[in-house]
Amino acid sequence: MPTRRETLAASAALAGGALLSAAPAAAADPRVAQDHATAASGRQPGGALALTHATVLGAGPDHTVLIRDGRITRTGPSAEVPIPSGTTTYDLTGKYIVPGGLVEAHVHNDGPESVLPPLFPLNGVTTVREMWGGPVHHEWRDKVRAGTLLGPRWVIAGPIIDGRPSIWANDTGQRVIEVTDGPSARRAVREVKASGADFVKVYSRLTPEAYEAIADESRRQGLRHAGHCPDTLPVARASDAGQQSIEHLHALLLATSAQESEIKRALAKVRIDPTLGTSFERYASWFRQVHAVEWQAMQTYDVGRTRALFDRLAANGTRVVPTLTVHHSLERTDQLPTDSPEFTYLPTWMTDYWPTIWAALTAGRTAQDAARIRRLYEHRLRLVAELHRAGVRLLAGTDTGTGYAVPGFALHHELELLAEAGLPTRDVLRAATTEPARMLGLPADRADLLVLDADPRTDISHTQRIDSVLVAGRYLDRAERLRLLADVARAAAASKPPAAGAAAPHLCAH
Ligand SMILES: [Zn+2]
Repeated sequence: MPTRRETLAASAALAGGALLSAAPAAAADPRVAQDHATAASGRQPGGALALTHATVLGAGPDHTVLIRDGRITRTGPSAEVPIPSGTTTYDLTGKYIVPGGLVEAHVHNDGPESVLPPLFPLNGVTTVREMWGGPVHHEWRDKVRAGTLLGPRWVIAGPIIDGRPSIWANDTGQRVIEVTDGPSARRAVREVKASGADFVKVYSRLTPEAYEAIADESRRQGLRHAGHCPDTLPVARASDAGQQSIEHLHALLLATSAQESEIKRALAKVRIDPTLGTSFERYASWFRQVHAVEWQAMQTYDVGRTRALFDRLAANGTRVVPTLTVHHSLERTDQLPTDSPEFTYLPTWMTDYWPTIWAALTAGRTAQDAARIRRLYEHRLRLVAELHRAGVRLLAGTDTGTGYAVPGFALHHELELLAEAGLPTRDVLRAATTEPARMLGLPADRADLLVLDADPRTDISHTQRIDSVLVAGRYLDRAERLRLLADVARAAAASKPPAAGAAAPHLCAH
């Protein structure tokens, strides 16, 4: 999907890799990092901690959770769990604990280190899957593990592997590996492996030949591949080839038409003009072309084909990350917020570009186009309901990094959108907890959890009523969480674009 890092400033930061840490925001505001370090050292993961008398989802009411050495050592009824002496204890009577915290399955992060990583745990998001990995994400992960930066656990993709020409031009500050055949595809996978990435990210413009080589080479290298289903590859084939997850609802929508061969022919005609020099132009072009084919596919939607395909995804264990957040923001532009309290947690040099980017992306839409695109969005919600009905494993992911999606906050809105699509509240919660944890192989005893003031099983919006968060054994109680959020807002306000005025803003992304 689109996504894009909205500004050139962000891509300049990434291009520089470590430049982020030397950017004005970080340099001028070391206090935030110090606060984190102080808080981290003041409450080391090794210290014993007890959270008592809370309702623990999946366990029961009036439960106690014991944490020591970065692990949850015991969860049980409060009356049956003795508290060892020397344990720091928090009485959480009336609170609800989400074990493991929340997992964001589709993010892109580029921006100030003092802002982006902390926003996830401060919103209860304890693990993220980075969908276009670069050196900066590995640096952040190292700092988080060392306790010098507040952030989530990070599962990191390699550089995007795409066909030629890629949707992403060479102007994003992030590496795209363009491959044209089997041998170049295999080399790309080995490069991804050498980069230390956790998985291989596949993209929309790969040829079937290159895709098959990636799938095979990934298996040989012990990596999973995940990402977009290429435009010209049948979704069923990607599923059979072991793709771990399919992102967004473009390929799935296109695959559910009764007019399979017509849609296939239309997709084969989608072209990326290599003379388009910016990623923004290329993405906007791809988007327009694919929207037209999607409209055609929606007119010829076939329930029988849909169910057969989704049953296959379920049988193969192929995950789907609908990213309703980004579909919603691009397709329900009438509902875009002009402002939000959440925006204060990002630098204005990031948020100020959003309207510009959206205006360019939606330029040339007639009233009829806009109406059709709104109906396409409604159709995507229906597909999510069908996926759920078929038992396909759904994961909550937002495409944060795209405009109008604020890291950490955005996941809570994705949960609301999944509920709107018809998922029962408990299954929405699973899409952000047990399902991604299983896919990513997160340890069951990891010392992560989210403490809420209200029961999220009765209303999904209750995930936003956050009391406190435990991340990697570090407990951010109510007061500390609020203090750190205020620190992030100050760091965002003080942040300057790393290369202000150096180039025109563009779209980047994923
Ligand atoms: Zn993405």
